Amino acid sequence: MLDIAIIGAGPAGLSAAITGVIRNKKVKVFGNPMTTSYIYKAECVDNYIGMPGVTGKEMMETFTNHAKEMEVEIQQAKVIEIFPMGQSYMLNVENEFIEAKTVILANGITKTAVLPGENEFLGRGVSYCATCDGPLYRGKAVVVIGDSAHAEEDANYLAEVCEQVYYVPLYKEIEHLDERIEIIRQKPKQIIGETVVAGLELAESTLEVSGVFIIKESIPNSKLLAGLETDGSAIRVNRMMETNLPGVYAAGDCTGKPFQVAKAVGEGNTAVLQAVSYLNALNRAEKNK
Ligand SMILES: Cc1cc2nc3c(=O)[nH]c(=O)nc-3n(C[C@H](O)[C@H](O)[C@H](O)COP(=O)(O)OP(=O)(O)OC[C@H]3O[C@@H](n4cnc5c(N)ncnc54)[C@H](O)[C@@H]3O)c2cc1C
Repeated sequence: MLDIAIIGAGPAGLSAAITGVIRNKKVKVFGNPMTTSYIYKAECVDNYIGMPGVTGKEMMETFTNHAKEMEVEIQQAKVIEIFPMGQSYMLNVENEFIEAKTVILANGITKTAVLPGENEFLGRGVSYCATCDGPLYRGKAVVVIGDSAHAEEDANYLAEVCEQVYYVPLYKEIEHLDERIEIIRQKPKQIIGETVVAGLELAESTLEVSGVFIIKESIPNSKLLAGLETDGSAIRVNRMMETNLPGVYAAGDCTGKPFQVAKAVGEGNTAVLQAVSYLNALNRAEKNK
């Protein structure tokens, strides 16, 4: 079992991981590729101490290399859901299940907009993970709504198992989509059905499908971990980066403004030190049993 599972390999997550390893805890970072960190997009970062004029890409490479040199384990994968298990948490990492005593959410800004029908049909035709749920749609028609080219991989996998795959990109440039997939450039309006999904209504047409795969870089926080308190889209934390759930901390852009690297790095450090105290207290309590 992990001592600390960190969700997100941006500045906040990597900062937390480095200190967690220094404090001798069993730490693992689960993150999308570094190109998805917000800072990767910055042309020039001038307000992070010690790195004047650095590009966002260079900064992320420096942070990632530092973490790797400290032997931080980074698994490139998306965390789909986290389940409370009494004294620990179970992570669904693209259908691999991993248990951790504590969790640090460092997943950046999550887009909170949900499609009408998304919440109602989640688990009944709506999925956030092709690897997890694709086999359920063998021989059926599905649609993938993708917010970046990363979603194309999921769609390509579905093309191998499903009868028909439609792809609704929410971005411009398609990179590598399987030729069996039909691209539809229309705005999704709502997911329809009675007890299970029957289709997706678009701006100018309706697709009859059994599955709607919504593949975004992030999962809304309320879906990622049920019971997590938020203020709008920001995870509610106190000064020690504790959330309302025991053993769960949050750091960086996911806790709200200001959206700055220095704040993300500082919060990651605070969160992990708090997780370390929590773990040490757990160990003492176990010994005294
Ligand atoms: C164009 C631009 C310019 C900027 N310039 C500056 C600047 O000059 N100075 C400054 O201080 N700040 C700047 N920022 C802000 C800065 O990028 C953010 O404050 C910083 O990246 C926050 O770090 P973070 O680790 O909290 O989130 P992020 O860097 O966004 O990292 C979060 C990571 O978590 C991943 N993730 C999300 N959900 C999951 C999941 N379920 N499973 C696995 N991984 C997941 C994401 O894909 C991402 O890789 C800029 C931002 C932009 C967009």
